[in-house]
Amino acid sequence: SLRFASSSFKASELTIERSSVTQPKPEPSSLVFGKQFTDHMLTVNWTEKGGWETPQIKPFQNLSLHPAASALHYSIELFEGMKAFRGTDNHIRFFRPMLNMQRMFRSAERSCLPLFEKAELLECIRQLVELDQEWVPYSTEASLYIRPTFIGTEPSLGVSRPGHALLFVIIGPVGPYFATGAFNPVSLLADPSFVRAWRGGVGEYKMGGNYGPTIAVQSEAVKQGCQQVLWLYGDREEITEVGTMNLFIYWTTKEGERELVTPPLDGIILPGVTRQSLLDLAREWGEFKVTERTLEMKELMQALDSGRVLEVFGSGTACVVCPVGSLLYKGKTYAIPTMKNGPDLAKRFYKELTDIQYGRTKSDWAPLI
Ligand code: PMP
Repeated sequence: SLRFASSSFKASELTIERSSVTQPKPEPSSLVFGKQFTDHMLTVNWTEKGGWETPQIKPFQNLSLHPAASALHYSIELFEGMKAFRGTDNHIRFFRPMLNMQRMFRSAERSCLPLFEKAELLECIRQLVELDQEWVPYSTEASLYIRPTFIGTEPSLGVSRPGHALLFVIIGPVGPYFATGAFNPVSLLADPSFVRAWRGGVGEYKMGGNYGPTIAVQSEAVKQGCQQVLWLYGDREEITEVGTMNLFIYWTTKEGERELVTPPLDGIILPGVTRQSLLDLAREWGEFKVTERTLEMKELMQALDSGRVLEVFGSGTACVVCPVGSLLYKGKTYAIPTMKNGPDLAKRFYKELTDIQYGRTKSDWAPLI
């Protein structure tokens, strides 16, 4: 509708101020996640009075915020995480970028931040990546991480819908998640006294407020000799996610069927782009049962006990898939035989997705920038 159309910024109005200097590009092997950024950024300002301003690409720079800005006090903040890949044909591709735009749009609705047209934002991001294209690593081990961010900049302390907001996008090269190229299994702490998200809450949105409080729990996991947290929920100890990844279990059911199972999008699960892609691929293959359902810790324990678990892995943009090797639960460590079983399925998913991302397999999941 006209009202909606006029309520978004437009990529056709994008202005570009080029940086007079360009920073040296780091070696892909030396990259540390989230520490290096490119020469430019995208910003779009919004006010209740004036609506969206024109989008701007400009030299990477600090922000200037009013100290009462609502992002700083009430966590009116959301973000996305996506990547661009330089293919073996030297063309740069996104991976299912509209899924990130849709997730960001839903996060904005829930945050009382102004709405925008998803395709317009993606086109602005495309132009930013195009301008900084030399920063997309010349490597099929590395990629360009894209961090769209949206904050309330209302300069007042009232807990209310922000009348000022800033959408910005920063990008930077990132290296491989598995440094040696081989899968490294992670060990998990499963402690039901820590909760990441709850029904009726905001766990299914990518809001900053969901992440800050997990750091102390992550530190506790490390203190107990584990690498990441297996997030449980409720009295029935539902298995939800692992670290900042969705969780998959590949097992033989009690009835003797092969099944890939992951928790459903029932409000406490972040709807991962990788999660959706694994489900789509597995359903297309049609070789085993694919199920989205609530899983309880006791089911996993029983399955481990009776030797029915084949693979447990996380899924996310950072790693694609990440095998789980063990579980510390109520003071006892349980081995998970993911690596012993290949992991055939995790490896197959990894290859399928990275082949698409790096252009070795043609797919409409990976549009050229
Ligand atoms: N769960 C959480 C809590 C996350 O932060 C992420 C990362 N966005 C994921 C799962 C995986 O999502 P995606 O596959 O889109 O990276």
